[in-house]
Amino acid sequence: MWDRDLLSGQVALVTGASSGIGRACAEALARAGARVAVNHLPAETAEARSLVGSIRDAGGEAIPVVADVSTEDQVRSMFAEVVGAFGTLHILVNNAGIQSDAAFTDMTLDQWRKVIEINLTGQFLCAREAVREFLRRGPQPEVSKALGKIVCMSSVHQTIPWAGHANYAASKGGLALLMQTIAQEFASHRIRVNANAPGAIRTPINRDAWSSEEAAEELLALIPYGRIGEPGDIADAVCWLVSDLSDYVTGTTLYVDGGMTLYPGFRENG
Ligand code: NAD
Repeated sequence: MWDRDLLSGQVALVTGASSGIGRACAEALARAGARVAVNHLPAETAEARSLVGSIRDAGGEAIPVVADVSTEDQVRSMFAEVVGAFGTLHILVNNAGIQSDAAFTDMTLDQWRKVIEINLTGQFLCAREAVREFLRRGPQPEVSKALGKIVCMSSVHQTIPWAGHANYAASKGGLALLMQTIAQEFASHRIRVNANAPGAIRTPINRDAWSSEEAAEELLALIPYGRIGEPGDIADAVCWLVSDLSDYVTGTTLYVDGGMTLYPGFRENG
């Protein structure tokens, strides 16, 4: 666990923070000393409030901020609210994402659009507002070496094709170049943009893949490290990626996947 000095004085926004990986990131960033805005959908107000309460009980600072990340007006209002409450923003964890799976020939246009709009367009809208705020605020070298940091929550499926999930894999593949392009465009401003690519992490998004013994066994065959990941595995890596410890890292994807991208099927000569 990181100590409170790691991110003290910094403000972080985590999207989709009311559950799973986003929740763990918000908790870890707060433990590392950041003031945290917990983004959530209206339907998850109770979960977001309870997270904010537990961060405050542990001595941290947090506020809930409601917005659908795929809606431009809501994203802009959310950033205005965060800056209004905390003065600025130093860290964006672009985490909100969904799956809507179907065999390719059965996938509806609505399923395709919804996943692209949340997973890809949502990250574009939030990253754009974050970069605008970093540039507006200007350097604060006493707070962080970088002007601002963005982590795009991607997936091993930015690399591994995934039958039955064409919309999801396309959204994460697109995200890889969105991340690198923003990183290239703003590196000279000292804005660092990176991706975290989780493997199989135990959260509600993939409950079917780990909740029965049989499914978990099938999943474990894909993970050389021999265990399913936990949200905290991702949160610890995110804390490092947004801290000055990784100040020379930009435009990179950090795979946190227990070796899933090592092609375990080839272990015994394929
Ligand atoms: P999750 O379902 O627990 O969390 C997703 C969160 O996003 C939820 O809180 C949900 O309410 C929120 N959300 C959905 N649509 C939103 C919208 N329009 N606006 C704002 N918030 C919205 O699942 P998770 O596993 O924690 O997923 C978090 C991220 O991690 C996603 O981007 C997902 O693609 C990625 N990821 C997860 C895994 C895994 O194995 N769990 C693996 C690779 C990548």
